[in-house]
Amino acid sequence: MQNLWNDSDAAHYAGELNLRVYTSRLLGRNPDLVLHGGGNTSVKIREHNLFGVEEELLYVKGSGWNLETIEAAGFAPVRMAHVLKLAQLPALSDVQMARELRVALTNPAAPDPSVEAILHALLPYKFVDHTHADAIVTLTNTTDGEARIRDVYGERVVVIPYVMPGFKLAKACAELFPKHATPQTVGMVLLNHGLFTFGETAKESYDRMIDLVTEAEAYLKQKGAWRIAVAAERAELRHPPELAALRQEVSRVAGFPVLLSAHADEQTLSFVHHTRVNEISQQGPATPDHVIRTKRLPLVGRDVQAYAAAYREYFERYAAWFTPALTMLDPAPRVILDEEFGLIAVGRTAAEAAIAEEIYRHTIDIILRAEALGGWRALGEAELFEVEYWDLEQAKLKRGGAPKMFAGEVALVTGAASGIGKACAESLLARGAAVVGLDVNPAITEVFKRADFHGLACDVSDAAQIGRALSQTVQRYGGLDMLILNAGIFPASRRIAELDDEEWTRTFRINTDANLTLLREAHALLKLAPRGGRVAVIASKNVPAPGPGAAAYSASKAALTQLARVAALEWGADNIRVNILHPDAVFDTGLWTDEILQARAAHYKLTVEEYKTKNILRAEVKSRDVAELAAELCGPLFAKTTGAQIPVDGGNDRVI
Ligand code: ZN
Repeated sequence: MQNLWNDSDAAHYAGELNLRVYTSRLLGRNPDLVLHGGGNTSVKIREHNLFGVEEELLYVKGSGWNLETIEAAGFAPVRMAHVLKLAQLPALSDVQMARELRVALTNPAAPDPSVEAILHALLPYKFVDHTHADAIVTLTNTTDGEARIRDVYGERVVVIPYVMPGFKLAKACAELFPKHATPQTVGMVLLNHGLFTFGETAKESYDRMIDLVTEAEAYLKQKGAWRIAVAAERAELRHPPELAALRQEVSRVAGFPVLLSAHADEQTLSFVHHTRVNEISQQGPATPDHVIRTKRLPLVGRDVQAYAAAYREYFERYAAWFTPALTMLDPAPRVILDEEFGLIAVGRTAAEAAIAEEIYRHTIDIILRAEALGGWRALGEAELFEVEYWDLEQAKLKRGGAPKMFAGEVALVTGAASGIGKACAESLLARGAAVVGLDVNPAITEVFKRADFHGLACDVSDAAQIGRALSQTVQRYGGLDMLILNAGIFPASRRIAELDDEEWTRTFRINTDANLTLLREAHALLKLAPRGGRVAVIASKNVPAPGPGAAAYSASKAALTQLARVAALEWGADNIRVNILHPDAVFDTGLWTDEILQARAAHYKLTVEEYKTKNILRAEVKSRDVAELAAELCGPLFAKTTGAQIPVDGGNDRVI
């Protein structure tokens, strides 16, 4: 493991707290040490308060901050005296502990101190670093984990048997650490959990972390228990509707729609085809830190119902042992191991699924290495239940607000690089959907940089490209719930006497034919949408009220409207709703060049400004107006509406 300390970088961080920030970020940069908000660090500093009295403060990582990006404000300053007193109490619930840690803050605006704050306070060293390093949990999650830790480190670390994180763990360390620490002690290993190191300087504590983990890695290599998998994503998903059906099933069990992302590559496929995958994957996560994100166990195969039944039994078996008022979490898996699809990560958002994926990729390496070492053995079921149903987690569950309208759902928008399509993507993202945006403009891949948006350069008039786009949608997010048919062209104004076949055909190919292909290919997926499929068609005012000089455009949009009406009739039985919007005079789109705008205005003998608000309400209609309505058409307000045609035109006397 590489030591990332750099003297010239460190020189930019003046003072103890800033150096604490620097080495915390170094830890956070290495996913083999900490993943997604895991791990925590602290520094003890003496300061004068408002009254001139000197007091010792513990600056400990605040919850909600990631080590990789932490700043000084991410460390919560708590009074050491108060925290050390807490450690002397015979018992304290974790909810009370969290409350007392807030009471001990010297800054009411600081984040909640880490649940491991008391433990940091107890260790009599200035700097304390804590990680759930892969190599350490690999060694400790084996049949003879403690002996192996002794083999590697001798007396240099204090070993603490597994205790649930929180107050109980702090108490256990308070008792065992002073008993076993010697002047040679440089670290503390928590079995089935992780590693603490400490030092008088930020560098000393960090160096010890890297050195100890490097020794564990060297031990694994020496025992032939080190293997680095090469990840090479398989290009195509072979059976998209099968994955969408699995997503429908997982969503049903969860009670809400979820996203699935499938990763079939060398690492994941070799694990799912491991001869003993059923045993080795069913023993629980590598460290308590992973339990909440990946659930106790992955599902092997596709029997979601059996998984949910086993989960309910597990809950009933242990719930009685703990607080009587436990609320059962949804019984859906967060990781699925499938022979064809590889590793499937489940989440209510794309970010949640990405975290589950990364944690499980690390888990695979940890399990395989521990197996090579003589046998993977994770925490027992009762211990895992205790973490999964931790009173702090239950409290968080009660606080959690209502999810967004389209949380866990997937939308595909055509022509999404600009104008109405881009605005639709924004409206859907704002409502919590994961969005795939298609556009012939290659800039589509850069339009939004976020995990819940995937931009694909795609010519919608090419059936093969549409097939690939749908397949990638399912691979990335698990299915398709909403389809926004927006891509279209608006040829230059031309009277029928001058209209050639090529222009007519090209307009129909994009405005009509491409949408037939997309509807046909998407039908099997929309049918599997957990809350029913929805299609919103962006047609045109020109359907009810065509204009001279726009024959090809008006006719192609009229044909599209008729196609959508037939789809509404045919697909109602599949619980798919199809509705149509007729926008007019939306000028902030890719269709409207200044040239076209001036030509149309001149045609009506108006200025461009008059032309823009030429409607009954005298209102300018913007892309966002159309997009918001398209998104709402897919939402619960229109749950009982299909086949409708709605104008978004500021009012038009020819339409009314
Ligand atoms: Zn920990």
